[in-house]
Amino acid sequence: MRVACFSTKNWVRDSFEKANEDGAHDITFLEAGLDGTTVSLSNGHRAVCVFVNDVVDAEVLQGLADRGVTCIALRCAGFNNVDVQKAYELGITVVRVPAYSPHAVAEHALGMMLALNRRYHRAFNRIREQNFSLEGLLGFDVHGKTIGVIGTGKIGRVFCELIRGFGCRILAHDKYPDGELEEAGVEYVAVQSLYEESDIISLHCPLTHETHHMINEAAIGSMKDAVMILNTSRGALIDTGAVIDGLKSGRIGYLGLDVYEEEEDLFFEDLSDQVIQDDTFVRLQTFPNVLITAHQAFFTREAINNIAQVTLGNLTEVEAGEDPSNLVSPDMVAS
Ligand code: NAD
Repeated sequence: MRVACFSTKNWVRDSFEKANEDGAHDITFLEAGLDGTTVSLSNGHRAVCVFVNDVVDAEVLQGLADRGVTCIALRCAGFNNVDVQKAYELGITVVRVPAYSPHAVAEHALGMMLALNRRYHRAFNRIREQNFSLEGLLGFDVHGKTIGVIGTGKIGRVFCELIRGFGCRILAHDKYPDGELEEAGVEYVAVQSLYEESDIISLHCPLTHETHHMINEAAIGSMKDAVMILNTSRGALIDTGAVIDGLKSGRIGYLGLDVYEEEEDLFFEDLSDQVIQDDTFVRLQTFPNVLITAHQAFFTREAINNIAQVTLGNLTEVEAGEDPSNLVSPDMVAS
């Protein structure tokens, strides 16, 4: 199939070329992201391949349909950036990669938890300046603490399995409790109880209308003092203004972000020569107890190879007229 692959980076090209060694698909690699201004780059292609920050709203979908595009192949799990209902109405098939490595993301969340607690990021900088003082680096034992996990699907489940090794109490909140996790000692509770009782809260649920800004002023107000919040899911689960207030008051003691609600204009690009215009993001960078990574939780060798293979497999199924194994349908979009 002729595919226009938007937001291409070197690692995308390398992994897709490797997965497409048999030449099954004719892929045009484009550096540009997909949005209303770049939709015309899809001319002559039957499918577009997009990533987390490409804009696939109703207007872009109409532009794609007008150009004969009949398939959107997401090379990620989340599909919050796609107007799935509109795609369905236009007869455009949307496919995704539901699981490429839950371990990659769960391990990254765990890494952020340890780095924030023991302040590895600060220690690294100090040692380079021959400052061997321990002042300000005091951590806590994770053992014996209560960790709250919101969303225990593929990633949240692995995260629970990893943190079980610390000997902590694990609280979880999910619409669909996982029986095996329950048997292993994970306690499912209402989200409010999780907020009130957890020392560390890690977010692993998708971004939906329901979860948008779930970490807001009221939620933060009910959390323990100096709570640690980790977000490796989607930026808009968190109301950034509310967490900045929480950090300033000390209510939030640690914040680990791999995602940010306005990340589209920042992440995945080298902006080191530019003046960042997003004052909210710049304010976040000023806190010593905030650790930010630029949507890299998924970024392992295993994960990117799986992404390329599954995406091309999805395109092969669509081209063959088969029912796609990894279809995204309107009923998957929670209201
Ligand atoms: P999944 O679908 O397997 O699991 C999501 C879980 O969240 C499900 O169990 C679901 O029931 C639960 N859920 C839905 N609504 C909820 C709510 N209101 N409250 C509590 N739980 C709720 O998804 P996954 O593969 O585990 O991925 C989770 C999220 O991680 C994705 O949606 C994506 O946004 C994010 N993600 C981030 C990266 C990264 O690189 N940072 C990579 C992959 C995925």
